[in-house]
Amino acid sequence: MTPPRFRHKALEEVATRTPRVVETPSAKISEYFGTNVFNEDAMRMFLIEDAYYAVRQAIQHGSRIERKLADQVASGMKEWAATKGATHYTHWFQPLTGTSAEKHDAFFEPIGNGRSIERFDGSMLVQQEPDASSFPNGGIRNTFEARGYTAWDPSSPAFIIGRTLCIPTIFISYTGDALDYKMPLLRAIRAVDEAATAVCQYFDKEVTKVTCTLGWEQEYFLIDEALYYARPDIMMTGRALFGHIPAKGQQLEDHYFGSIPDRAMAFMRDFETESLKLGIPVKTRHNEVAPNQFECAPVFEELNLAVDHNMLLMDVMEKVARKHHFRVLFHEKPYAGVNGSGKHNNWSLSTNTGKNLLRPAKTPKENMLFLAFFVNTIKAIHSHADVLRASIASANNDHRLGANEAPPAIISVFIGDYLTKLLNGLEENIKGAMSPESKTELKLDIGRIPSVMLDNTDRNRTSPFAFTGNKFEFRAVGSSANCAAAMTVLNTIVAYQLKVFKTTVDKLIDKGVKKDEAVLRVIRDLIVESKAIRFEGNGYGDEWKVEAAERGLSNIADTPRALDVWGRKETKELFAAMGVLSGVELAARHEIELHSYVLKIQIEGRVCGDLAQNHIVPTAISYQNRLLENVRGLREVFGAEKAKKTAATQVKLIEEISEHISGIMTLVDEMTEARKKANALQDTRAKAIAYCDQVKPYFDRIRYHSDKLESMVDDELWPLPKMRELMFTR
Ligand code: ADP
Ligand code: MG
Repeated sequence: MTPPRFRHKALEEVATRTPRVVETPSAKISEYFGTNVFNEDAMRMFLIEDAYYAVRQAIQHGSRIERKLADQVASGMKEWAATKGATHYTHWFQPLTGTSAEKHDAFFEPIGNGRSIERFDGSMLVQQEPDASSFPNGGIRNTFEARGYTAWDPSSPAFIIGRTLCIPTIFISYTGDALDYKMPLLRAIRAVDEAATAVCQYFDKEVTKVTCTLGWEQEYFLIDEALYYARPDIMMTGRALFGHIPAKGQQLEDHYFGSIPDRAMAFMRDFETESLKLGIPVKTRHNEVAPNQFECAPVFEELNLAVDHNMLLMDVMEKVARKHHFRVLFHEKPYAGVNGSGKHNNWSLSTNTGKNLLRPAKTPKENMLFLAFFVNTIKAIHSHADVLRASIASANNDHRLGANEAPPAIISVFIGDYLTKLLNGLEENIKGAMSPESKTELKLDIGRIPSVMLDNTDRNRTSPFAFTGNKFEFRAVGSSANCAAAMTVLNTIVAYQLKVFKTTVDKLIDKGVKKDEAVLRVIRDLIVESKAIRFEGNGYGDEWKVEAAERGLSNIADTPRALDVWGRKETKELFAAMGVLSGVELAARHEIELHSYVLKIQIEGRVCGDLAQNHIVPTAISYQNRLLENVRGLREVFGAEKAKKTAATQVKLIEEISEHISGIMTLVDEMTEARKKANALQDTRAKAIAYCDQVKPYFDRIRYHSDKLESMVDDELWPLPKMRELMFTR
């Protein structure tokens, strides 16, 4: 048998791969879950009682830990870390670059006379000064005060990766301004706790704390390392800037229903094991819609922890993927023409009494609570849709939102048939002063809300923000994003709305309206006011764009314009009122996000130009030369006159190739000019808009010519692995 021939040597490499053998520490996950975490069990074992309770208090009530106790916590942590073989420690934080950051220090410390000790005390645990000048700060820190510091977040437990003890921290400037994602998130969590607890108190005095919960679903693509290296565009930008879309895309959806390919499965088992040791409760894994696209989801957790776990998971996945000769693509849209990747954020609120506030219950009283939170959330989205939109804006996500298979850039809320009817009914029935009978009937209605709606809410997959029975699912979040950005905004706007709600209800009560009736009346008003944001239809359809415009909903298609909302007066007031972001911090974030948009498009522009000129055009010319050779040969054999006919196809092809080559060359030159013009702009927003409107449109135009050439040039010559090879090779 002759061995198979491969068009591209990367494909040959892929064909020889075998799944890596993965050993799990034990058949029972419970035996190794959390073994690399300084969790409850470890704390009990390694902390003296006072230190243990101080940490518990800090976790539950955000109280400060005294220096002396911090020393004891540090010492216990060090002991524990030593049993795990850790030699170093690091403050682990989430700067606004989008990934997590760390700087390792050894426990080891020389003490003279050739002797040394292992040292780790409270001050090292509580605070560190990383060289912060290379992290984005949006102008908060000027050059002579370029320092920032990291500070321990005891509410997220320390963990070990390799031989390093990692301590989750916030990252702030010396002036106390947030330079990261975690600090504002913690502030938003506190704001929601305060506002939600106050509302709960209307109905249940035992509620003294409300916690946000998040269950994220992480989508991603896998690509073989050899293919990755053979595609400079994917390597540099995370997405394919070129490539003819294959005849078979995802239409058959055979991947979605199919079994997980062996190599991918081995990778999943491996990264899941590592994640489980880190206490990340990963539970489900499956294929996603597009070829070579997958998803991983954990059991939901407290929001701050869930965010840390997601950042950690992405990191673990990237590391483990290398061992399997894979790369993980977290990009929101690696391949045009098939589904992109998102990170659905399932969000809810739960009380210290163990109640999920977004789960309908059995009694009218409990359901009043449900309704209050349900309707206030909808109203919060209605009032602040643009802020929520901005929280998910990024150069990558622009390719996904509003594309066929992803939620549109229009923010709307889906709640399903049953609740739509219920809200419409409440709107009709609650009017002015209510008769005792109508009150009773209303109570009955409210008492009847089924607590399991999961099966009868026809699941509208096209909605960006959907109620799914006992939680809301924010689906527009991008797969590469830090969930904290979206969650900070969601919790801030909900906290704000709950505060407004409470004030309004209190006013009615002060006027002598009974509590239940006051609550119901305000709920009714909110139902009416927020009606425009509720949409049950097909969010992917063009009709929705028209209707949404009529309803006055925004549809902001690109990032630079979506970010404008950070500069609005009302936004500043909102974030200041909730104590989440100051005006300075908001402005800094705006600047950083615009800047990162510019960088992304700038890099894509460069890679696009380089690849077109250095890979694609030369290949097209080689092939064209072959054709010319061929035509010359035909002329020699048949004579010029007869060859006119015999060589006609080749001549036509030569012409077409020339057109596409010159198309590319002209467009690349024009794009370079557009980049120069954009670069000359001083104002970051103007620059971002220029990159968006003047530079970015060239990518698809250049791609068009390249993709045409790809379909003309001899397969053997084409230098880049093709889209079908990227998507269907496993
Ligand atoms: P599916 O949508 O796949 O049918 P579920 O409805 O059980 O499955 O949950 C989807 C995701 O929602 C899971 O990641 C889960 O952790 C999360 N989730 C479930 N309940 C909550 C909650 N109360 N708060 C936050 N996330 C939740
Ligand atoms: Mg989902």
